Amino acid sequence: MKDITEPPDAGNFRNSGERVNATLLSLVRNEELDDLLMSMKEVEETFNKKFNYPWTFVNDKPFSRKFKEKTREATKAQINYEVIPKDHWVEPSWINKDLAEASAQYLKQQGVQYSTMESYHRMCRWNSGMFVHLPKLTEYKWYWRVEPKTHYFCDIDYDVFKYMEDHNKTYGFVINIYDSPESIQSLWPATLEFVVDHPEYVHSNSAIGWLTQTTRPDHNKIAGYSTCHFWSNFEIGDMDFWRSKPYQEYFDHLDRAGGFFYERWGDAPVHSIGLGLFLDKDKIHWFKDIGYQHIPYFNCPNSKKCKKCIPGLFSDGTRLSQENCFPQWIKHGGSIEWDE
Ligand code: GDP
Ligand code: MN
Repeated sequence: MKDITEPPDAGNFRNSGERVNATLLSLVRNEELDDLLMSMKEVEETFNKKFNYPWTFVNDKPFSRKFKEKTREATKAQINYEVIPKDHWVEPSWINKDLAEASAQYLKQQGVQYSTMESYHRMCRWNSGMFVHLPKLTEYKWYWRVEPKTHYFCDIDYDVFKYMEDHNKTYGFVINIYDSPESIQSLWPATLEFVVDHPEYVHSNSAIGWLTQTTRPDHNKIAGYSTCHFWSNFEIGDMDFWRSKPYQEYFDHLDRAGGFFYERWGDAPVHSIGLGLFLDKDKIHWFKDIGYQHIPYFNCPNSKKCKKCIPGLFSDGTRLSQENCFPQWIKHGGSIEWDE
């Protein structure tokens, strides 16, 4: 197995004391404090104690005193605690609540996880297109999304935001998987409606081949496309892409279509389709060197910089290996930055 330590030019991005305009970002509930602290400590230990980027914690309710105390103890960096304006979070006016509830029951019978959890639908919509308009986040360009209960196994000794900027990248991911097609049956049809109206938004070097490939034809049959997506519980990205005209118009179109509430469209497939259609695929970066886990998947590099992670391991269970869409990304997606 190849050694994956860090980019060959990582030396250009050591801590110079100069930061780019970036924040670590967590949408999180007060009840998730312990799980969040676990993730936060690992991000601090492997990366942020060297670079000191501010944290932004976001919630639909005010953060508790305990949440603030404990998170302050976990970093020497600045922290923002932000509450989402109600009209950014709740169902937009055109959503019919009775229809949303009936749809949720139907999806539950189809085995769609979280379909009856109203807050989950809201969270997915907010992460899809609303988060970049949170007043505090409008001050920042770059973000690194950190979820509670995730693990970071490897030392990251270079500034990942500077790396992205210097290499002219827009979006960074670690895990690439298939989705549950039942949760997004009308997402691709709604996307095609938009694209028919705006063919000029589709990039000439897009990753559309990754979205339309048919390695798992059952997925294409139900969802209309491959369902391959960047697993968005980890993202390092440029928020200006989500604020761009093509993406915002796409998001508004989806929001009007209602699938965040009438189906259970996730922010991962929505982000991924937006990236896969409207962005130059070479601006998407695989962080092969960031060891990461969100149950049940891993990205685990073979590197001396990593601890407690089995090199090459993809998932907790062998039957899940079919969920890995990474080979399809290699085939149809952007160039891989460096080979070791
Ligand atoms: P999963 O990874 O798809 O199982 O979903 P999670 O439960 O991990 O939720 C995704 C992210 O959104 C996590 O960072 C959660 O802390 C956050 N989240 C989910 N629902 C809510 C909510 O109702 N309020 C807040 N403040 N955060 C939420
Ligand atoms: Mn999660």
